[in-house]
Amino acid sequence: MNPSPAAVYDQLCNEVRQTAMIESIQELLGWDERTMMPAAAGEYRAEQITYLSGLAHGRRTDAQLGAWLDELADSPLAADPHSPAGATIREVRRDYEKRCKLPRSLVEELTRVCVLGQQAWTEARRNDDFASFLPHVERIFQLKRQQAEAVGYADEPYDALLDDFEPQARTADVAGVLAQLREQLTPLVAALVDSGRKPNREILRRRYPVAAQETFGKQAATAIGFDFQRGRLNVTHHPFCAGTGPHDCRITTRYDEHFFPTAFFGILHEAGHGLYDQGLPTEFYGLPPGTFVSLGIHESQSRLWENAVGRSRAFWQHFFPLAQQQFPDALGDVSLDDFHFAVNDVRPSLIRVEADEATYNLHIIIRFELERAVLRGELAAADLPGAWREKYRVDLGIEPPHDADGVLQDIHWSAGLIGYFPTYTLGNLYAAQFFQQADADLGGVEPLLARGEFAPLLYWLRERIHARGQCFSAAELVAAVTGRPLSHQPLLEQLRHKFEPLYGIE
Ligand code: ZN
Repeated sequence: MNPSPAAVYDQLCNEVRQTAMIESIQELLGWDERTMMPAAAGEYRAEQITYLSGLAHGRRTDAQLGAWLDELADSPLAADPHSPAGATIREVRRDYEKRCKLPRSLVEELTRVCVLGQQAWTEARRNDDFASFLPHVERIFQLKRQQAEAVGYADEPYDALLDDFEPQARTADVAGVLAQLREQLTPLVAALVDSGRKPNREILRRRYPVAAQETFGKQAATAIGFDFQRGRLNVTHHPFCAGTGPHDCRITTRYDEHFFPTAFFGILHEAGHGLYDQGLPTEFYGLPPGTFVSLGIHESQSRLWENAVGRSRAFWQHFFPLAQQQFPDALGDVSLDDFHFAVNDVRPSLIRVEADEATYNLHIIIRFELERAVLRGELAAADLPGAWREKYRVDLGIEPPHDADGVLQDIHWSAGLIGYFPTYTLGNLYAAQFFQQADADLGGVEPLLARGEFAPLLYWLRERIHARGQCFSAAELVAAVTGRPLSHQPLLEQLRHKFEPLYGIE
C-alpha cells in the first residue's frame, strides 16, 4: 500500500526543515564572519560555508524530494495554493525545478568567476580603473545569460534573474511601474532642488557620542517592537539583518560620531527587517509559510519603519525630546522643525547608499535600465561607464567625475547579483502602498506615532504580511492587503505629502 499524502507530506516537511537547519547554520557562520571572526580565519570559514552550501543544495535537488513532490502534486493538500501545505508544495517544487535545471558546471563556474570578480572590483574601484574590471563584468553577464537560458523565462532573460530575488515578478511589469515613477519623480526632485530652501545640515554633523547613539537606537528599536530577547544588535561596516533561527534575529549598524543619521536610520532600517523576521510564524520555521516572500517585500518592511515612520514629523514629535536628553550638547538649541527638515534633506548625489529617500529611486532605475540593456545585448559592457554618466546627467543633473563614484560604486554586478537592484525600489513602492492602506485602516497612523504608540501599526503588518509567510506571492500579497495592484502613486503621494510643505512648494 502507498503511504497516504499526509504521510508523504510529513516526510517532505521533515526533510525541508533539516535542510533549512543546515542553511541557518550557514547563516550563523556568515554572521560571525562579518562581526566577530578573526581575519586569519577567513579561508577555513569559506570552506565551511561552501561545504554546508553544497550539502543544502544536494538535499534541495535530491531525486527523492522530486518523487515526493510528484506524489503530492494532485493531492488535496496542494489544492489551495494559499494554504500552508499548498504553499509548501508549490514553493519547494519551484525551488527544486529551478535548481535541477542549472548545470553543475555553470554553478561552479559562476561561483569561481564571482569570487574573482569581487576581488577585481575592489581593486578597480580603488584605482578608478574600469578597464581592469571589464573582462570580469563581461564574463559575469555572459554566464548570467546562460543561467537565464538554462532556467527559462517568459519574455526576456532578465525575468529569470529577477525571479531569484523577486519570485514570479515580470520584468515588463517592473519596468512599467518604474517608468511611471521616474516620469513624475524627476520633476518633483527638480522642484525640491529649485525651491531654494535648504535644511541646516550642520545640526546632524555635531558630536553625537557613540554610547548615547547606541542607547538611543536601541530605545527606538525596542519602541517599534524589535524583541531583544529574540535578537541582538552588533557593529559592522556594512549593516545587515541575519535570521539564524526561529528566535534569533541579528541586526548590525555602524556609528559615525559626527553624523547622526548613519547609525540611527540604519538601526531603524535593520530593525524593520528584523520585525518581519520576528513576525514570521515560528511553527513553520524552515518551511515556505515561515519564510519571507521576496527581497522586495523584506525591503518594504525596513523602508516603512525607516522612512514612512522614522523620517515623519509625528515620529519626532515623540522622539525629539528624548533625543535632546541623550544629546544635550548637539540638540539643546535645535527646534523640532529644524531637526525634522535636516533628516529630510533632498539633494541629488552620486552615491546610491548615501542618497535621500526621494532621489534614491532614480539611482535604482538607472541601474535597472543599464543591466537590462546589457543582458538584452543592446548595450556593450564596455559602454557602461559612458551610459552611466549620461543617465546621471539627464536624471539627476550631475555627472560622476570618476568611475569609482560612478559605475564602479556597487558590489552587485561583480558578485553576479544581476536583477537585484529593482527590489530596492519595489520595497519603497510596496512600503508606501502598505502604509497608505494602514493609514486608512487605522484611522490615521500619524497621531499614533506622535504619541509613541507603534503597536497598532506593527500588529497591522504582522497580521496582513508577516503571518502569511510565502502563502502569497508579492503581487498577490499587495493585492490582498491593499485591494489593488502595485502602483507608483502611493510612493509619489507620500513623497509629495512630506516634501512639498518642507520645501515650500504649493
Ligand atoms: Zn534593507
